[in-house]
Amino acid sequence: MRCPECGCSDNKVLDTRSIDDDRVVRRRRECVNCQRRFTTYETVESTPLMVCKRDNTREPFDRKKILNGLIKACQKRPVSIRQMESLIDSIESECYNNSKTEVTTAEIGECLMRGLRKLDPVAYIRFVSVYRKFDDVDSFFEEIMRLKNSQDQYEAQKENLSGEDSGEPL
Ligand SMILES: [Zn+2]
Repeated sequence: MRCPECGCSDNKVLDTRSIDDDRVVRRRRECVNCQRRFTTYETVESTPLMVCKRDNTREPFDRKKILNGLIKACQKRPVSIRQMESLIDSIESECYNNSKTEVTTAEIGECLMRGLRKLDPVAYIRFVSVYRKFDDVDSFFEEIMRLKNSQDQYEAQKENLSGEDSGEPL
């Protein structure tokens, strides 16, 4: 199994777990060359996970793309790459556990928002603003109003959000 970062095929398995009623083996690996960690899934018949987008087109599930979005949302926030990766893991596991071969961008977004909300409210709000930007502006304000209940928290976020480059949607 080649490292997605450096292409080295030498890696060590950190964790092996059987999921989906023993039909899938999930392995967490670490490249011995660059220490990049990645996850592999072993199944009898491999069906790639596809992402169904808003315009109904499909593309393969791309961890890197999702991770880049998370890194943007979590910039200068106390959320580790490892926490972001385990968020993405949870989406994949969820699909494999339910034998799903397709997931919508909306489902991915919801899952990431739920996870980020627990990890860091600022990263969460940033992500929501990017994610829903072209889709539903009102939802973003609803989310802000919801968080506004805690005034201190809101003030902190306003500080952090001012002048923020929101980046690209998922
Ligand atoms: Zn590597």
